[in-house]
Amino acid sequence: MSVTICKVEFWPIDVPITNPFVVATGARTVAENVFLRVTLSNSTQGYGEAAPFPEVGGETREGCLTALRRLCKTVLGRSVADYKEIGLELSEQALTLPAARCALETAVIDAYCRASNIPMWQLWGGADVRARETDITIPITDLDKTVALARGWYAQGFRLFKMKVGKDVESDVTRLEAVHRALPGISFIGDGNQGFSRQDCLTFAQGVKSCGGRMVLLEQPVVREDLDSMAAIRRETGIPVAADESVRSLADAQEVVARGAADYINIKIMKTGVAEAVEIACFTKASGLKLMIGGMVETRIAMGCSFSLVLGLGGFEVLDLDTPLLLASDPVTGGYRYTGPRLQPWSGSGLDMDVEPLPSVTTIE
Ligand SMILES: [Mg+2]
Repeated sequence: MSVTICKVEFWPIDVPITNPFVVATGARTVAENVFLRVTLSNSTQGYGEAAPFPEVGGETREGCLTALRRLCKTVLGRSVADYKEIGLELSEQALTLPAARCALETAVIDAYCRASNIPMWQLWGGADVRARETDITIPITDLDKTVALARGWYAQGFRLFKMKVGKDVESDVTRLEAVHRALPGISFIGDGNQGFSRQDCLTFAQGVKSCGGRMVLLEQPVVREDLDSMAAIRRETGIPVAADESVRSLADAQEVVARGAADYINIKIMKTGVAEAVEIACFTKASGLKLMIGGMVETRIAMGCSFSLVLGLGGFEVLDLDTPLLLASDPVTGGYRYTGPRLQPWSGSGLDMDVEPLPSVTTIE
């Protein structure tokens, strides 16, 4: 295909979060993201999104907007069929700005798929195209609010609860126990977001075990560099451990595997961009580890790309693709849909989504 990329538009978008999104390392009440649209020489368009989370990834929206002005020059005039090379080149040019380049890369891939008339998941093989269930995230908040939120999601059909923990072990256990006692037949992921010490995490796991809670995964309990503690926590608790913040590149994933530091690797396109996320997923599977996929606080644009990886590559066991449900509104039309906890595949081309640029749009052509 000799269709070229001839225009890039991007604009900031604020989407309020229904309940403050509080994790061990930071808090947000508004998703301050960036939407991006590319237009091809045959008028086909594609969309992407940057969802910087300053306390987790170190990126800010201002930083994304500044970087995009520069990175656009890499894609203008290029053949859209070179989407993979473009993604890897963007990584070289902006290693520390994965959310910014993810927006551009996703939009190029979406445009390519639309021009080729295939759903985005088809690009990666369409290995596992079926409705899939996501977990639901319960942020760090007080006990009553924790239980009220969990009850609300339970009524909508959610059964896997990702509890944000890692700020205070005692209250983490108390909150989890309260949810466990309130709702039958549920399971938990404990996401420490690097907030626990090794001992804290062991205390937490013991506390959950004592109350009878079913903990299926401990996600990033300790600081990202402390792979020894991750390995020790796996051994000593018998609970699978997922590496999230510890894996921000293929090299990180290789280190986690070599050190026996995790059972799962949590893939996020906002940490690595899309092309490298695919490389990490393939490496993870080949290494015999399991795959999880998640996101920052994203709308259905970025999350639609992640769901495409799930449907296309196959082998993802745990889906943490819930953030559009945590937002007070949905700025996007079309694309995949939620039915309770289930994400429904779509059959239109690309992400099959549309959104109108805001007046604050920056246009580069
Ligand atoms: Mg996490």
